[in-house]
Amino acid sequence: MRPVYICACLFACVALPLAAAPAGRISPDRASDVTVIVDLKGPYSTAAIKEMQREATRIIQTSGVQIDWRRRDEVANTVFNDLVVMTFKGSCTFDPAPPLYDELGPYAVTRTANGEVQPFGEVDCDRVVNSVRIAMFGSDYARAEMLIGRALGRVVAHELVHMLTKSGEHAREGVYKASLSGKQLISASLPLSAMDVDRLRLEHRISH
Ligand SMILES: [Zn+2]
Repeated sequence: MRPVYICACLFACVALPLAAAPAGRISPDRASDVTVIVDLKGPYSTAAIKEMQREATRIIQTSGVQIDWRRRDEVANTVFNDLVVMTFKGSCTFDPAPPLYDELGPYAVTRTANGEVQPFGEVDCDRVVNSVRIAMFGSDYARAEMLIGRALGRVVAHELVHMLTKSGEHAREGVYKASLSGKQLISASLPLSAMDVDRLRLEHRISH
């Protein structure tokens, strides 16, 4: 099976309003380093979203960076230390018989503006679910929502590395590779490479 590019990681310059720039660091009264706002646009499985958060947290925290998760509707009038918005389009739940789908598109998109990676990612649930479904077999069907969540968590962790390191480059191994197959998305473990852990640690130290 052909691996799918995990993100267009567009690095094509998309003009975003300047208001998108972080409004300065506010002294943290929270233990987390980055707050991820989860914005679900379509139908979803609560179990899959929970697993997505668990998996992305598990991957990223090997670098010492702590993630705090919030739903879009929880965040009004709240001040956060560092904010990332992750939008999920399509259907974030298992579908045993989805429509035929073009597999070649990316799982997610992170935009850049003026050469800088922006803290806005968009995950395409339909594409992730499709790749996972094709990679599943046997007993996988009995834990489909967990596997969907795991795959989504890996895609989100990948995008977070772009955002936290403000880089469009990819790793040669691990979850931050440029392309990942459905099998890799649901395999038992897909951690950060040692090099990515170091890069995140460095960013983490600089910003604290
Ligand atoms: Zn990428």
